[in-house]
Amino acid sequence: MIDVINLEKKFDNGFTALKSVNFTIEKGDLICLLGPSGCGKSTILNLIAGLLTPTSGDIKFSGSSIIHTAPKNRDIGFVFQNYALYPHMTVLENVLFPLTVGQNKISKAEAMPIVEEYMHLTNIEDLRDKKPGTLSGGQQQRVAITRALVQKPDILLLDEPLSNLDARLRLRIREEIRKLVKQVGITAVFVTHDQEEALSISDKIILMNEGIVQQYALPQELYLEP
Ligand code: ADP
Ligand code: ADP
Repeated sequence: MIDVINLEKKFDNGFTALKSVNFTIEKGDLICLLGPSGCGKSTILNLIAGLLTPTSGDIKFSGSSIIHTAPKNRDIGFVFQNYALYPHMTVLENVLFPLTVGQNKISKAEAMPIVEEYMHLTNIEDLRDKKPGTLSGGQQQRVAITRALVQKPDILLLDEPLSNLDARLRLRIREEIRKLVKQVGITAVFVTHDQEEALSISDKIILMNEGIVQQYALPQELYLEP
């Protein structure tokens, strides 16, 4: 589904954040990119999403290079650490918005059943008329995940989606994310620096350090330094 081939990213200031990164992600897998802050996890997500351009190497979706495909045509949903909801819109409007703009836009009447289906899946129906600013962190992240999923992307990218939530909520939302990803059958790449989090939700873990992949393993087979 996703092939990352000899991917390198050198920033304009001369710093090389990724040094020849290679991995393949199978369709339907939930993969964690795990590693300490600064090891290049977000850079990989941003390259997959098209928010950054690689210095060299290639990224393929289902066998075709997407390096020159515009971000909006990559069929990706992105969930950020800080939720990134539109503050002036209600929850319903936030979730509806991506379906009613751009090249593949559909009418509100066509979009509503899809929006209602996904708001039911993520249990945010009761929040539909509220503004993001009045919601808890967990509720806001549910809205952000719903907004990413209604577009039915092939790939869901999540960049530290739980790090602004308190410990109890973190456990709950991560279980919800895993369940949702499996229910919808999407391919997901989840960035975290939290070992326990990665071990608990991933099908496989890509362990990174200083811009390289150190291990790519099943959670139970990952070797962790004592
Ligand atoms: P992670 O997500 O693992 O915390 P990042 O991918 O955000 O790491 O960053 C990897 C490294 O690249 C870090 O050392 C970071 O400071 C550096 N970096 C990120 N963006 C830029 C940039 N635009 N210019 C220069 N260095 C950057
Ligand atoms: P993260 O949430 O992954 O830790 P950061 O807070 O490190 O991200 O970075 C936030 C933004 O700043 C990103 O867009 C990143 O590309 C950019 N950035 C990070 N490090 C640097 C750097 N050393 N020089 C320039 N930009 C950077």
